[in-house]
Amino acid sequence: MPYSTIGIEGIETRSYPEPLASDTMRRMNSDKRQLPAMKLDELQALVATWKQPKFRARQILDWRNKGVLSPDAMKNISSDLRQKLKDEICCEPLKLIRRECSVDGTRKYVFALTRMRAAGKMIESVFIPEEKRGTVCISSQVGCVFDCPFCHTGTQGFEANLTAGEIIAQVLAIKADLHAEPLPDELHSDITHIVYMGMGEPMANEDAVLSSIGLLMDKDGLNISRRRITVSTSGLIPQIQRLGAVYPVNLAISLHSAIDDKRDTLVPINRKYSLQALRACLNAYSIGKQRHITLEYVLLDQTNDQDEDVQALIRFVNPERERVNLIQFNPYPGSPYAGTSKQNMKVFAQWLISKGIRATVRRSRGDDIMAACGQLKADTKADSNADTKG
Ligand code: SAH
Ligand code: SF4
Repeated sequence: MPYSTIGIEGIETRSYPEPLASDTMRRMNSDKRQLPAMKLDELQALVATWKQPKFRARQILDWRNKGVLSPDAMKNISSDLRQKLKDEICCEPLKLIRRECSVDGTRKYVFALTRMRAAGKMIESVFIPEEKRGTVCISSQVGCVFDCPFCHTGTQGFEANLTAGEIIAQVLAIKADLHAEPLPDELHSDITHIVYMGMGEPMANEDAVLSSIGLLMDKDGLNISRRRITVSTSGLIPQIQRLGAVYPVNLAISLHSAIDDKRDTLVPINRKYSLQALRACLNAYSIGKQRHITLEYVLLDQTNDQDEDVQALIRFVNPERERVNLIQFNPYPGSPYAGTSKQNMKVFAQWLISKGIRATVRRSRGDDIMAACGQLKADTKADSNADTKG
């Protein structure tokens, strides 16, 4: 059996062996192109240099688009071509380390990077199934430089930017997992939506994130509509403007306070790009008729959940174009905040709604495994430390 299965209170946890890439793999994966980020014409040009017919490139991409990345599993291509792929391309930029399945169907994954200099660094991704959609939440960086004090990823510091291939490989690996082990019939086992809400600040890894969006939308790739892609950002204004100009995908802003003094603390990038600048940027962001910008607001007890906070938020929001998503705080060991009670979250939401603002309380999914972004990875590190010590 390729992995071990441990059941804890209805949660199924699987840990996969060999978390670190071997030295050979590290060497091999150094500066190679990554299969998840290759376009059809690029692969066609490459297979032509190997004296292989053009249609082979399409066959390889058909496998890749299903989430099959190992050349050995690509059954309709020759062993010579498989070997070429293994030698010349990094086909599997991520290695699955751990998977946790919640009783509500949510699956959380920890992957390790395999390329040189970043090998063994870990990221998280989540699949959230609903009746009519399946959403993958992906990471864009290992860690984050921005240091929002309520965010576990922020407290871990910045380690590395992901490549476009590593960003897309998360989606592909989850696709393969869902194919191998589909969810119960009442839940969606297909990936219909992508949200950049995992670890890291996507707009601080602009080139790779833009390139990954282009590849996700590519009709020879996963062919996902921009209406089904959401980028969440703490508010890097020039980057948001460029995103809107290149790929006007859905935008979610980590607002968390509409009072500059408080936002300076909660979302420190506010010291550089204030609420006024953010307001102008949001007004200019292109959205279609049926679409809206999401303002994310994690409710922290006695911090940003007071009367002055809701009043400032009401003044800030443009109800014609924006919705507020109230998020339950996910505590983590040592976190300096506590979440607002469910009852007070409802009161906060009702206040917004009474002013004509669309506000939703984000249903917490995979509560039993969830933890805020970065926590499962931290847990995995703690486990492996325990293993080495023990
Ligand atoms: N860096 C980007 C995207 C990753 S964070 C951003 O900040 O938008 C994704 C969302 O999770 C953000 O809205 C973030 O503020 C929120 N978040 C971070 N830590 C959290 C926690 N402990 N509890 C609840 N939400 C959290
Ligand atoms: Fe970084 Fe977003 Fe966490 Fe802030 S909330 S530290 S920007 S990942």
